[in-house]
Amino acid sequence: MLRLICFFALAVSFSDCTKAQRLIPQKKVIKLMGCGFELTAIAKTDTLAWEAINAGINEISRIEKLISSWDKNSQTSAINRAAGLEAVIVEKELFDLIYRAKKISKLTQGAFDISFASMDKIWKFDGSMKRMPSDKFVKAAAAKINWENIILNKDNHSVFLKEKGMKIGFGAIGKGYAANRALSIMKQMPIQGALVNASGDLISWGSNSKGNKWSVQIADPKDKNKSLAWLELKNMAVVTSGDYERFVKFDGKRYAHIIDPRTGYPTTGIKSVTVVCPDAEVADALATSVFVLGITKGLSLVNGLNGVECLIITDEDELLSSTNLNLNYY
Ligand code: ADP
Ligand code: MG
Repeated sequence: MLRLICFFALAVSFSDCTKAQRLIPQKKVIKLMGCGFELTAIAKTDTLAWEAINAGINEISRIEKLISSWDKNSQTSAINRAAGLEAVIVEKELFDLIYRAKKISKLTQGAFDISFASMDKIWKFDGSMKRMPSDKFVKAAAAKINWENIILNKDNHSVFLKEKGMKIGFGAIGKGYAANRALSIMKQMPIQGALVNASGDLISWGSNSKGNKWSVQIADPKDKNKSLAWLELKNMAVVTSGDYERFVKFDGKRYAHIIDPRTGYPTTGIKSVTVVCPDAEVADALATSVFVLGITKGLSLVNGLNGVECLIITDEDELLSSTNLNLNYY
C-alpha cells in the first residue's frame, strides 16, 4: 500500500528559535465528506492557527452539503432525481464544478466521468456484495454512463441528465475541490503556512513550522512502514488514488472501486496513482483517470500536461513515473 505521510514535525523543538521567530503548528483531524481530513496551520499564535483551521473546516462542511449525493437535500441529489425528466437550476458553484468535471472527461476521452455513479447499484464496496454481478446488469448500468449526456445551460445554471437512470457523483473530484477551497480560505488569514490532507489527497501552502518547504514521504508499497522517497512541496498538491479498504474480492480476484466507464467493470493492473500539480481538484481527477487509462495511456496523458507529474504503482509493486517527477530517494 502506498500511503502518503505528511512529514512535518509537529513536536518541533523551538529551543533554538527566538520568541519573535517562533511559529506555532496546530493540527485538527476531523471526519468530513465521509473521510478523514487533517488541517494544519502554521501561525505566530495558537489563536491565529485555530481560526484558520476552523475557517477551513467550515468551508469543507459547506461544500459537503452542496455536492454530496448521499444527502437527499443536496442539489446534487435533486439533479439525480430529475434524470430523464427535467433540468435543475443549481448554484453557480456546483454548476462550475460539473463544467470542470466535463472538461476532464473530454481531456481523458471519458476515462474520468462523474456519471459513473449509475454503477453504484451494481458495485458496492462496503462489504455488502456477496457475488459477482451478472454481466447483463453491468452492461445495462454502464450504458447510462456518458458525460456528454450531462447537459449544462450556463444562462440559468441548470443541469440536466438526459437519460432516466443516469446519476452523477463527485467521489473522484470532490475531496480535491474541498481541499483547494479550504486552503484558499486559510491562505487569506494571517498565517505562515497551511496543509490540508483529505485522506491522502493533500495540498500545501507557505512553509512548515521550521520555515522550510513542506515535504511528503512516499511509503514503500512492499513495506508500508518504510519510506521509499520523499517529495518537496512548494504550493503543490499531491493526490493519491487507490483506497485499499474499498474493494470486493470474487474468486480470488480483487476489484477496486474505480470504474472503467467503457466497460462498467472496476479497473485492474494498477494499485495506486499519485499525481503532483498545483491544483488538488485537477490532481484528484487525473489520479482516477490514470487508473482507468492504464499505464501507457495514463503516463502519456500526464507527460503531455504542463506542470503535472505522476507516480504509478502497479499490481506487481513496480514503480513507474512521469518524465519530470522530482522524487528524492533514500
Ligand atoms: P480514492 O478514493 O482511492 O482516493 P479516487 O479519488 O480515485 O480514489 O476516487 C474514487 C471514487 O471516484 C470512487 O469511489 C467513485 O466514487 C468515483 N469514481 C469511480 N470511477 C470513476 C470514474 N471513472 N470517473 C469518475 N469518478 C469515478
Ligand atoms: Mg481521484
